[in-house]
Amino acid sequence: MINSETIKQILEHYRVVWALGHAGSVMGWDSETYMPEEGIKGRAVARAEIAQLIQRFMLDEKFVKLIEKAEEERDLTDVERGIIRVLKRDLRFYQRVPPEVVRELAKVTSEAFVAWRGAKEKARFDLFVPYLERIVELTRVVAEKLGYEEHPYDALLDLYEEGLTSRDVEAVFSVLEPGVKSLLYKLESRGWPRRHPLEDVPYDKAKVEAAVMEVLEFVGYPKARFRVDVSPHPFTVGIATPFDVRITVRYRGVDFREPLFSALHEYGHALYELNIDESLAMTPVGSGVSLGIHESQSRFMENVVGRSREFAAKISPNLRKHLDFLAKYADDDLFYYFNVVRPSLIRTEADEVTYNLHILLRYRLERLMVTGEVKISQLPELWNNEMDRLLGVRPRNDAEGVLQDIHWAHGSIGYFPTYTLGNVVAAMIYYKHGKIRELVAKGNLASVKEYLREKIHRWGSVYPPKELLSRGFGEAYNAEYLVKYLDEKYR
Ligand code: MG
Repeated sequence: MINSETIKQILEHYRVVWALGHAGSVMGWDSETYMPEEGIKGRAVARAEIAQLIQRFMLDEKFVKLIEKAEEERDLTDVERGIIRVLKRDLRFYQRVPPEVVRELAKVTSEAFVAWRGAKEKARFDLFVPYLERIVELTRVVAEKLGYEEHPYDALLDLYEEGLTSRDVEAVFSVLEPGVKSLLYKLESRGWPRRHPLEDVPYDKAKVEAAVMEVLEFVGYPKARFRVDVSPHPFTVGIATPFDVRITVRYRGVDFREPLFSALHEYGHALYELNIDESLAMTPVGSGVSLGIHESQSRFMENVVGRSREFAAKISPNLRKHLDFLAKYADDDLFYYFNVVRPSLIRTEADEVTYNLHILLRYRLERLMVTGEVKISQLPELWNNEMDRLLGVRPRNDAEGVLQDIHWAHGSIGYFPTYTLGNVVAAMIYYKHGKIRELVAKGNLASVKEYLREKIHRWGSVYPPKELLSRGFGEAYNAEYLVKYLDEKYR
């Protein structure tokens, strides 16, 4: 797949960048799982040094020249073109955004994280305001330096989802907002469960862990390339994609849906990395292409497969074997427990019907923040009014409102819409395939996974997100499928 001599030289140099990234991933994974608390004192320094080394290798003059040279070459293969595209994207950020801005942003966000945690504990947004003001100011500079065609927010969207614009996001929400609101209204009149007694049932952690592992075995993972550990916030990491991919789960002791579905969610992310073509390993195109496409894979596994009636029936014996308290519930109960729909205040606890309205709210506020149309101090009031308008619930304080997410403290503005894209694409895949639930009912997960591998996974980052979707499915972010999927499921 690599014919160009120039690209071969590029890959040789890039191997060092990859190796440094690999070391950084192992450290990151260890920090979240097994590292003793005070280990952070050494780890933080080591990780910062490694990040700097990566930047130095990326900006190496000879390397940059090679990339420019390769760009001029004709007859490049798709993989070769992908390699150049991805490297140019990385370089663009380093070259356009002044190092002082990057450093300042790193400093402010590390202070902001501490401030945000304290502000959230006290439910006082005012304590966080000066930090967020500074982050938004710096983010505006980043957007201006990166450049955009129509709206500064587009420059930020593109950081997380290559090629995504406000127009795309508007198009998605103009379908989702009315679709979801009318569905919510219908569900209320039909008496769809808003609560289930199993939500309050405490569980034995070891037993739920055993059940979750059996479910993961049912969906099938490669034992020599995958592992599961425990961490405070579940995540997936491709340590050496596709040879070593890991997920984490958390067990809180009540409401076993949480570990079950977060395991399936992370497994969806992991499967993407595990199925990337081995020939792309250790190259710039050797991992998942974007946050939105990644989230589509996790949401597909968690919601489309995991929360289907067929899946609930299929895994019911595994769950019952370990969880005695299920004896008095039918399989249908499991399905309703997995699919309770209730407008709520916290995004991460939202069901698949209401979830995207939480994102719509954040998207609207972020755009206003970036243009300066709203003062940061006004955010809580705007947030609360918008929650009321979209979901009919009103936060009692800032902790369960504007302060709930970590993203802004991290400086991640423009990130939230990728969650909704994930949901949109997951529903699209469901209809494009057409027989997913039949396959799940037969226990034929291998066939489902093969479809995902062929359409999405194997390509890594060879094609940008919209092109990948157009090639596989003939269109990109069409939200009609998601509205149809929800309408049919919650009928
Ligand atoms: Mg995810």
